Amino acid sequence: MKPAPFAYHRPRSLEEALALLAQHGGEAKPLAGGQSLIPAMNFRLAQPAALIDLNGVAELSHVSDGNGSGLRIGAMTRQRVVERSAVVAARAPLLHETMPFIAHPQIRNRGTVGGSLAHADPAAELPAVMVTADARLRLQSATAERWVPAAEFFTGLLTTALRPDELLVEIEVPALAARTGWAFQEIARRHGDYALVGVAATVTLDGEGRCREARLGFLSVGDGPVLAPHAAAVLVGEAPTPEAIAAAAHAAATEDIDPPEDIHASAAYRRQLAGVLARRALTQAVQRAGAAASRTTDNG
Ligand SMILES: Cc1cc2nc3c(=O)[nH]c(=O)nc-3n(C[C@H](O)[C@H](O)[C@H](O)COP(=O)(O)OP(=O)(O)OC[C@H]3O[C@@H](n4cnc5c(N)ncnc54)[C@H](O)[C@@H]3O)c2cc1C
Repeated sequence: MKPAPFAYHRPRSLEEALALLAQHGGEAKPLAGGQSLIPAMNFRLAQPAALIDLNGVAELSHVSDGNGSGLRIGAMTRQRVVERSAVVAARAPLLHETMPFIAHPQIRNRGTVGGSLAHADPAAELPAVMVTADARLRLQSATAERWVPAAEFFTGLLTTALRPDELLVEIEVPALAARTGWAFQEIARRHGDYALVGVAATVTLDGEGRCREARLGFLSVGDGPVLAPHAAAVLVGEAPTPEAIAAAAHAAATEDIDPPEDIHASAAYRRQLAGVLARRALTQAVQRAGAAASRTTDNG
């Protein structure tokens, strides 16, 4: 099918883009990589009166190490650029490890980090990773700016805290604390498909090797990314033995999630997968945290 008629704007600056957004009063949609929006328009699931194409706004595309604060990623940065960035690999290894799981290289060449977050697909990898990493998102309108924690940005199925006159302009991913390990695991029917279930994990150990903090964020088990506080509570304060990890994974699968049933998988199968993937992810994160802790000790 073809999209319904729409006006097309190609601003050259963020200021111009925000002015256009304000002018259209909620009738316009920003166009990023177009990998989700254009198919939705072609199927007439989305019928914006106008598109504001952000591809000419150079200031929205950047990756920087943030000068001592967290890693900063401009919303229009292509997913493939993030995947290949040495700064991201060094400063945000969880994000780096996750990028190849998103769709296919052709889609990552066009798709943007901000577009994926703003689209808020519950099966998308980046929302779960940003929530797990405790990232912050900078939202800007023609008149104001605010930072929103990732955990508050995703408000429901394909829904976010973005107001109609706001753009997502930047994402800040904090540095990992000392003695922290990470992991990302997912199961998809074919590589590149949206995952049936996925999970991101970080584990921070204290000086005695006990778990100081654990964060688990799932995808494809709810209306958006789902954090797993019960699983974290099982691990915190404990030595991360295989038994403790298994208990935390069990808590994640039975208490933290309420997975949907659809044509791809039953709810029971998703729950089973979530438990298995949580155990694998926590095990790998603990191993990496242990390696990071021994490096910390070696360096005095
Ligand atoms: C075949 C296929 C397979 C895919 N598989 C996966 C997968 O496995 N995992 C996955 O995560 N994704 C997958 N995707 C989606 C892909 O990652 C998209 O790139 C992503 O969802 C949207 O990013 P985009 O830059 O293309 O945004 P667009 O499609 O341009 O926009 C998406 C939405 O976000 C809004 N938007 C975009 N940028 C901003 C902004 N800066 N501020 C405010 N609103 C904004 C748009 O108005 C629109 O509503 C797949 C896509 C395809 C076509």
